Amino acid sequence: MWRKHWVVIVAVGVVLTVLLTIRPWTGQAGLDAQEIVPIGQRQAAVTYKADVQIDMNKHVVKGMLTARFVPQDDQAFFHLYPNAFSANAALSGENWEVVLGKQREPGGIKISEVRVNGKSVGVQYAGKTKTLLQVPLPARTSSAETVVEMNFQLEVPYNNGRMSYHDHAMWLGNWLPILAVKDAGGWRLDPYSAIGDPFYSDVANYHLRVQLSEGYQLATSGLESVAVITETRPQRLKIYEVDAWNVRDFALVVMDETYQPISGKVGETIVRTWVQKSDDPQNVERIHETARESLDYYGKQFGVYPYKEYDVVKTGGFFGGMEYPSLVFIAQEYFERSDGMGEAVVAHETAHQWFYGLVGNDEVREAWLDEGLTDYATMVFLQQKSLARSQAYIQMRLGQARAAEGYANQGVTAKSSVEAFPDWRSYNDLVYGRAGAMWWNLKEEWGVERLHQVLRQYVRDHQYKQANGEQITALLTATAGADASPYLDYWLRVELEKAEAASNWVEKGKHE
Ligand SMILES: [Zn+2]
Repeated sequence: MWRKHWVVIVAVGVVLTVLLTIRPWTGQAGLDAQEIVPIGQRQAAVTYKADVQIDMNKHVVKGMLTARFVPQDDQAFFHLYPNAFSANAALSGENWEVVLGKQREPGGIKISEVRVNGKSVGVQYAGKTKTLLQVPLPARTSSAETVVEMNFQLEVPYNNGRMSYHDHAMWLGNWLPILAVKDAGGWRLDPYSAIGDPFYSDVANYHLRVQLSEGYQLATSGLESVAVITETRPQRLKIYEVDAWNVRDFALVVMDETYQPISGKVGETIVRTWVQKSDDPQNVERIHETARESLDYYGKQFGVYPYKEYDVVKTGGFFGGMEYPSLVFIAQEYFERSDGMGEAVVAHETAHQWFYGLVGNDEVREAWLDEGLTDYATMVFLQQKSLARSQAYIQMRLGQARAAEGYANQGVTAKSSVEAFPDWRSYNDLVYGRAGAMWWNLKEEWGVERLHQVLRQYVRDHQYKQANGEQITALLTATAGADASPYLDYWLRVELEKAEAASNWVEKGKHE
């Protein structure tokens, strides 16, 4: 079943390649007319296939991973993020306390039997606490696809983070070994950090076969609604086969039967909010409605959401919300409050489906890019939904933005790399607040339609790829017909001497 399935996928891939090469639909009503290429019509450069068994009693995940890709180098690196939480990681300081929480147990991932094109190459870890796997590849003269296989055993840490569990669920973010990105600056092998979302990855196709005990259910970055689910007797196992095409990562949450989904639809996309039966129905409904409405709104503003599912799952965690492709984690507390923050968190994570998901960027060096656009989108969504209810959130962000000058005097700005931020507060104020306020200000000056036209083009230009600050500056420059750098420098780097040049640029852009 599994192998056959694999052959079918390859065959579909071949047919798609041929179709994409010939482009029989090119023409007025064809691909060129579509802003976002449908996921089924796009070849991903990397394919991951994993076969995993999840033990919910021991909190252990065993598995085998295969990655197929055309090498860019004579080696490849896989991030092993779980090893950031290994027993010898010695995580200390206030910022790690936030991530780890009061109760904590270490975890980690062990790799064995690494094979390249079928040949064993040994296990070579790198990074301070083995947070990287280094894999030598055949000489790069050949552009042929390379297959890297490995076995792994993941012991899920217990803490306040993105990969943990409680009595009713286990949420796995950044758990699978994932290829590091090599960009113009070389290999990006940044370690996990307490602050920010220290991730950077390329879009890939994933095929997962997940084995669970009976009595558990799954939400993932893939399509559970069409997953093949097999139940075995007498072992009482449930096996899911899940595909996710053209996604930047693959996260999943295993839930017991106290969880149930509330379903809705936005166009062809199924939106599910996974909560426990004991949760407050009004809060749940508000969050679910916000997920649906924001997905719909952003799709209309920034380009259609190309995936067929969107899951919002209640988890534990310090993070408020955490974005993964087609799946977001929302911390429990936001289902317990009715002050509008739950809606804001969901609207924020949903916006990340465009800024992070569809258009990726280096979240270590340029967190302002996805977070700023995401939080701007959040504010504009909340405002058009309810002027009154959005005020507190928008004023909070604009207030944070005003603190930027103080931070700049200490050498920290929205453009700083994650390791430069002394604490979560400064990261919040600058990367969300200041960068979001920069876009908000431009919306106030140019109007929402003009700004969103620019952002739609940004998404269209970089869909399924990476973007960077230079590229969005170039787009703004082209839009206004004048160099946009003074505007970005004024807002992001707080170069106050550029205030006049910045406002001249804004004026010029209004009339272009
Ligand atoms: Zn965010």
